[in-house]
Amino acid sequence: MTVPEIRVRRLNGSTPRPSGDHVLYWMTATRRLGWNYALERAVEHARALERPLLILEPLNVDYRWAADRHHLFVIDGMAEHEHALRGTPVAYHPYVEPEPRAGRGLLAVLAARACAVVTDDSPVFFTLRLLQAAARLEGCVVEAVDSCGLLPLAAAEKTYTAAYHMRRFLHKTLPPHLSEPPAADPLASAGLVDGVVPDDVAERWPRAPAALLGEDGLPEQDAMVKALADFPIDHAVGPTGRRGGHAAARARLDAFLDDGLERYGEERRDPDSGASSELSPWLHYGHISTHEVFDAVATREGWAPSRISPPHDGRRKGWWGMSASAESFVDELVTWRELGYVYNRRNPDYDRYETLPEWVLETFEKHADDPREHVYSFEEFDSAATHDELWNAAQRQLVGEGLIHNYLRMLWGKKILEWTEHPRDALDVMVELNNRYALDGRDPNSYSGIMWVLGRFDRGWPERAVYGKVRSMSSDSTRRKVRLDRYLERWGAQESFV
Ligand SMILES: Cc1cc2nc3c(=O)[nH]c(=O)nc-3n(C[C@H](O)[C@H](O)[C@H](O)COP(=O)(O)OP(=O)(O)OC[C@H]3O[C@@H](n4cnc5c(N)ncnc54)[C@H](O)[C@@H]3O)c2cc1C
Repeated sequence: MTVPEIRVRRLNGSTPRPSGDHVLYWMTATRRLGWNYALERAVEHARALERPLLILEPLNVDYRWAADRHHLFVIDGMAEHEHALRGTPVAYHPYVEPEPRAGRGLLAVLAARACAVVTDDSPVFFTLRLLQAAARLEGCVVEAVDSCGLLPLAAAEKTYTAAYHMRRFLHKTLPPHLSEPPAADPLASAGLVDGVVPDDVAERWPRAPAALLGEDGLPEQDAMVKALADFPIDHAVGPTGRRGGHAAARARLDAFLDDGLERYGEERRDPDSGASSELSPWLHYGHISTHEVFDAVATREGWAPSRISPPHDGRRKGWWGMSASAESFVDELVTWRELGYVYNRRNPDYDRYETLPEWVLETFEKHADDPREHVYSFEEFDSAATHDELWNAAQRQLVGEGLIHNYLRMLWGKKILEWTEHPRDALDVMVELNNRYALDGRDPNSYSGIMWVLGRFDRGWPERAVYGKVRSMSSDSTRRKVRLDRYLERWGAQESFV
């Protein structure tokens, strides 16, 4: 077994069924063909059992916040897989559910004919429900494989309540895992036998139409939007121009390595600098792997694990032995990102207000009746109609581009906390806006970011009105600290904003 055992979770008590027709990889979260332990594991089974590999990549229609924007991003990745796998022995079934529940039965039918079923293990959004469905399959072994980050989720020993604790744990635990990355191209020379999607399955659950997948390359977004017109999803949240899929992710990564990484440490907080990676949408949909991103950074840095510098004490600088800028990037990519994944995995209630730390709940209650200088309705927030030009600009960026610059995202959240009747309302507003519009929304780090605004993973600060002991932020001091001219030119006051 080349896939580290710690990444493989058996979901049922069955063994492989050698008489099955195929090995089924049910691709739900790790939507990529490279740097993917689950695909690697499915290939292992297929080779050992000398059976074809069938990849089922579905997209449900009835998930919360389903909209053109999110659908198109995922379908771009499916189109890429369709083109990459054409003419190979791998059978690929991209299924885009046209109406709620139309996809029911598809997994069960393919699994009933399988020797083994492999799926993605992930604490992202509704994958918990999918994993429960996978665990109910019978007749052959069902495995969930974790490709979420550099640290296997099963290696985490507890919930880490601050980045510092997570970092210290990573320093002690991560190094051996770094020597077991997933294969960059698990299908290369896999020696698989030819597979097909069974006719009856293709007839009952037809593959996504060419209007969505394209004949030779990605279709234009306008044409895809038309093809989705009858789907019961939110058509008001439209595409952003940014394309999903690994090719777009890799292009973004390469551009960042050429013109962002070196400046990242000093300039990532400046919205005008363009020094942050903007990789989060592709990381969220599994279109690119943190292993691949880490490998690319390490290669640029000429880095090897021997550069790690003990003691393993959780310090932010100097442990990796990379340039200061690269260390700062890796700290976000690994410590902060995986802190959120570990938290969600171990705390299924991650989105509930009551799970905030005790000191936060206490301080918020103490300040619940503090007079608020401004209180806005959801509609006012949504339409960027507050008194604060900078906040409105961040909201416009979210609606228009599906992202908010990383520093302004913190300010965006803090002001919602300040301008709602109660922090519970702030939580609802942040979750709704973030997950409706953000291309990286509905991620473990959507909730860790939003909950950070409300005090999780942070320490107490000097007490003040409304915020209590939770850290506050101000638009005026943000304006003084970071460069915003170009940002405000693009997203600042506009005559009409829809
Ligand atoms: C209110 C609020 C909401 C947020 N919602 C989301 C969300 O929906 N999805 C999401 O992925 N992140 C979210 N974050 C975390 C963070 O803001 C984004 O990950 C980051 O802005 C993405 O931009 P980037 O790719 O340019 O990051 P970079 O600075 O280039 O960092 C590289 C990668 O590291 C990870 N990362 C960076 N900063 C953080 C962080 N603070 N916490 C966790 N991981 C981080 C991301 O995967 C990111 O792509 C939120 C933060 C806040 C305060």
